[in-house]
Amino acid sequence: MHEYSLVEALISRVEAEARRRQALGVHGLSVRIGELAGVDPELFQTAYDTFRAGTLCAAAPLTLRFVPASWSCPRCATPIPRGEVLRCQACQEPARLDEGSDALTLDGIDLEVP
Ligand SMILES: [Zn+2]
Repeated sequence: MHEYSLVEALISRVEAEARRRQALGVHGLSVRIGELAGVDPELFQTAYDTFRAGTLCAAAPLTLRFVPASWSCPRCATPIPRGEVLRCQACQEPARLDEGSDALTLDGIDLEVP
């Protein structure tokens, strides 16, 4: 279950950021999970709730946003619908997976700064 190591990495990143900005506390986190990131949102949430005790994130709720995978043409940016051949009909370019579709992204940290 790599969700646990992802959560560990996330929390250390947030703690580093909180220390850097001399925050008094962390009030919330928001994270985007791409459909093709290979991360199970429910497991991620459970892992977060397990790990955050005793960290700066102990009182910070986690908001998860699921991002469906999408593709587009790298040349003309036409979106390529799901289920279609992954190639642009106009330029014959192979479709490219849009940013965020296969990533876990830390969207925001709600810090209490003095
Ligand atoms: Zn195109």
